[in-house]
Amino acid sequence: MEDKLHSLKEWLTKEIKSRANEIDRDPQALKAAIQEMGDRSLLALKVPIELGGSGMSELDYRLLQVELARISGALTFLQTQHQSAAVMLSKSHNVSLQQDFLSQMATGKLLMGVGFSHLRRRGIPMVSAIETDSGYEISGEVPWITGYDFFTHFILGATLADGRELYGVLPLKNREEQQGSISLSEPMKLMAIASTNTVSARINHWCLNKAQVVSIKPAESIHQSSRNNILNHGWYALGCAYAGLDILLAAAQEKQLDFLQESWNSLNLEVEQCKGKAVDLATHDTASYSQKLQLRATAINLAQRCSQAAIIASSGAANYLGSNAARVYREALLFSVSGQTTDVMEASIKQIISNK
Ligand SMILES: Cc1cc2nc3c(=O)[nH]c(=O)nc-3n(C[C@H](O)[C@H](O)[C@H](O)COP(=O)(O)OP(=O)(O)OC[C@H]3O[C@@H](n4cnc5c(N)ncnc54)[C@H](O)[C@@H]3O)c2cc1C
Repeated sequence: MEDKLHSLKEWLTKEIKSRANEIDRDPQALKAAIQEMGDRSLLALKVPIELGGSGMSELDYRLLQVELARISGALTFLQTQHQSAAVMLSKSHNVSLQQDFLSQMATGKLLMGVGFSHLRRRGIPMVSAIETDSGYEISGEVPWITGYDFFTHFILGATLADGRELYGVLPLKNREEQQGSISLSEPMKLMAIASTNTVSARINHWCLNKAQVVSIKPAESIHQSSRNNILNHGWYALGCAYAGLDILLAAAQEKQLDFLQESWNSLNLEVEQCKGKAVDLATHDTASYSQKLQLRATAINLAQRCSQAAIIASSGAANYLGSNAARVYREALLFSVSGQTTDVMEASIKQIISNK
């Protein structure tokens, strides 16, 4: 696995780094980059080898996520949606669905997204599923699905009448079939990762056949999963903090200003400590939820501070739309809220207040 991590780092530095701003804004550039990952069989990393993946450990996968986020927010975000879908499929009891999709997912012959973050919202479910003879009838609004025109399908989360969560595969296309339809919005005009073609969807009486069901989980599983995986989105933030540090270091070397180097030294120490703690907490089952939550908030805080330092050290040129500092600053904004729960919102906002 060391080899995989090493070759990925080399590819990111040699091939992707110089294209990161283009990849952030242009879907075609992003398409080429994700296909290059597919060509290297890097798109089903956590899927067991017997199901066509790489069988990578959770920690190795997260360390790789840091390296990806350090180089390109758009690429790391897009490929994560696909890798999440692949992991969900690999854990499914629906063997024929696995056979249909999984073997093609590692190489990117088939790309799949997810749309289930709305299950975290409290109150009336945004997407409901009603059991029928052939499967489920799905209706509702999906606020976020990344990857239109990259992904042919996505795994949708919907709520059954008794509160259980249904996950099933739908086409990521505008469709009208029998009496049902899927209507996608135009790709959103996003400040960061605009190239990822993130859309929302209106689903009306869509018939999800039983054969397309990935899993049915108990009510509130999403909240338990958000707690269990509280560190996950923090790895993006850590990668983003390193991206800010890289820009700061380059500015320190170019401008030969001691205080820039001193700032890098001090921030780099904090980021290294945060990464060390994250590795520690991720590998010890005894780590508490609140320890991990605080560390996630620290990673978000570091992404914000390091990207701000990158902006200041880059001077006026940081305002160019195509500047690396501006891109990383916008990515820090995205990674401050991605996968947000109420606890994460509270912990990360409290760190801003205590850092005044
Ligand atoms: C660019 C982009 C792409 C994305 N792509 C995907 C994707 O492909 N698939 C996917 O599943 N998700 C995707 N997301 C969703 C992403 O993970 C969410 O941003 C994140 O989960 C926060 O959700 P939200 O913005 O919808 O906020 P909300 O869910 O509205 O709020 C976040 C938290 O605050 C709480 N909250 C909100 N409003 C209230 C209120 N009135 N009272 C009390 N509590 C409240 C919620 O319960 C929740 O815990 C994407 C997001 C972005 C920005």
